[in-house]
Amino acid sequence: MNSQMNDSQRINITNEVTTQYKINEIFESIQGEGAFTGVPSIFIRVQGCPVGCPWCDTKHTWDIPPETEQSASQVLLKSSDSDTWFRATAEQLLNILREEGYTAKHIILTGGEPCLYNLVPLTSLLIENDYSVQIETSGTFALKTHPDTWVTVSPKINMKGGYEVRRELLEQADEIKHPIAMEKHIEELDELLAGKALKSSCLIYLQPISQQQRATELAVKTCIERNWRLSLQTHKFIGIE
Ligand code: SF4
Repeated sequence: MNSQMNDSQRINITNEVTTQYKINEIFESIQGEGAFTGVPSIFIRVQGCPVGCPWCDTKHTWDIPPETEQSASQVLLKSSDSDTWFRATAEQLLNILREEGYTAKHIILTGGEPCLYNLVPLTSLLIENDYSVQIETSGTFALKTHPDTWVTVSPKINMKGGYEVRRELLEQADEIKHPIAMEKHIEELDELLAGKALKSSCLIYLQPISQQQRATELAVKTCIERNWRLSLQTHKFIGIE
């Protein structure tokens, strides 16, 4: 180690080497939503989320019960949703991707809420190893990632957990993907985005909740009016995870 380093630099490096992630599942599939729709992807789902969305379809990731910690091999073998999880460093996760023989080169960090973790070590290692990396976040926690990470913010507004969507997350977003069912959800998004300096390249997607017909019609109409984009959960139409 460089003898010129000060103590805080040493501590930062130590943290980066030792950061451990709590992982609920890893699987390979096709991205079904947003700008990367259709892209073969490896999904890394973290354990833990305090945001509390009532319609959440991954409620089994909310808590991190110590008693459901298992080995990586046990968790990787599970065949249905459960709150079991394993811990791993960035290096260990990269080794798992190699050992599992995945062929996709696009990684999606999802959850749970990935921004509960310092993702700099993991995203940096993956990008150094020629993966593209996308993070899907609620926008309610600070973002700690490699700067080349594609940031998808699906803003969770007024949820039970009481966390606010952070301005800087909206301004760092490469895409904002908003689930909608009714006009009220568009109004909430308008209110949220007002006065924010979004990236000029930021894409805004509306995603009809649960493929409801009324929600889909509203999303189509609004996307045409605003020149926004429609995100369909295509994986649900073809019955894949
Ligand atoms: S932020 Fe995501 S994981 Fe957390 S409760 Fe909401 S939908 Fe579920």
